[in-house]
Amino acid sequence: MTASVDTRYLSADPDGITAAAELLRAGALVAFPTETVYGLGGDARQGQTVAAIYAAKGRPQFNPLIVHVPDVQTAQIYTQWNDTADRLASAFWPGPLTLVLPLRADSGLSSLVTAGLDSVAVRVPAHPVAQALLRAFGGPLAAPSANPSGRISPTQAAHVADGLTGRIAAILDGGACPVGLESTILGLIGAPTLLRPGGLPSEAIETALAQPLLSHSDGAAISAPGQLASHYAPKAAMRLNASSVQPGETLLGFGPECAGAALNLSPSGDLTEAAANLFDHLHQLDATGASIIAVAPIPAHGLGIAILDRLHRAAAPRDS
Ligand code: AMP
Ligand code: MG
Repeated sequence: MTASVDTRYLSADPDGITAAAELLRAGALVAFPTETVYGLGGDARQGQTVAAIYAAKGRPQFNPLIVHVPDVQTAQIYTQWNDTADRLASAFWPGPLTLVLPLRADSGLSSLVTAGLDSVAVRVPAHPVAQALLRAFGGPLAAPSANPSGRISPTQAAHVADGLTGRIAAILDGGACPVGLESTILGLIGAPTLLRPGGLPSEAIETALAQPLLSHSDGAAISAPGQLASHYAPKAAMRLNASSVQPGETLLGFGPECAGAALNLSPSGDLTEAAANLFDHLHQLDATGASIIAVAPIPAHGLGIAILDRLHRAAAPRDS
């Protein structure tokens, strides 16, 4: 799977933060403290880096990731900002609140970070080390919790080391995380909707907005197009594991055997590159008006598992 790398242990002093920012600029992965839990950070604009986050965690699915930014102004570069977001940001940022907003068309974020959605989750963390790292790095950081998939979220550098040593470039040690719970996620596509309870109590949000929140289980909000990863599907029909192309099909290739494909996820057969290209290529083929997208066989190991998970969802009947 992922080749073993030397994991550097950095203390959260100016030298450590400078070294961490340099690694991030080079596209490497760095775990860092936030007030909620340790995040596994990578440049949210570099598709291969975002793919490497999923690989390091061993995540079998591409869930959209939260994009961490240093301040409101930076959040506005990536989102279609609105008044409700403004009110909540004034009240609760920096802090353990994530806002899901419409993605700006010119955001420059990797499509893997949003799992191909037209919305994006953003947060301004309060932890001084996270703040210093974001400013030194100077870009948006995708940062899910810094633990292998299926394990408990890390609230200390030692927890991160335990799970991810050998899989990431560095761990920035900023001590124990004060909140110790993931951020509260609020959807602001339509009526404010609680997507995940977390470190900021929902009552505080309701008080700030002077209105009750919809919850994840209130059907109406959840069926808004693009709000959940599972709702992304191309307009075209999909045929997976296609070893040859039938008349009327457009081939999405993988590997060197697919020389004639309309697009190739990775001509060299590299799963990290394929993951980075997946959503872009599906969108591009859909935009050509293809009626059937045939997808070449993808190996079912490493990132191939998450790629296949997403392709199976995209190929599933369109009732939701
Ligand atoms: P984490 O693993 O802590 O980074 O949290 C990521 C979670 O944020 C995902 O599993 C989703 O539940 C939620 N999320 C991120 N982006 C979006 C989005 N665009 N729309 C809806 N939920 C999102
Ligand atoms: Mg997690």
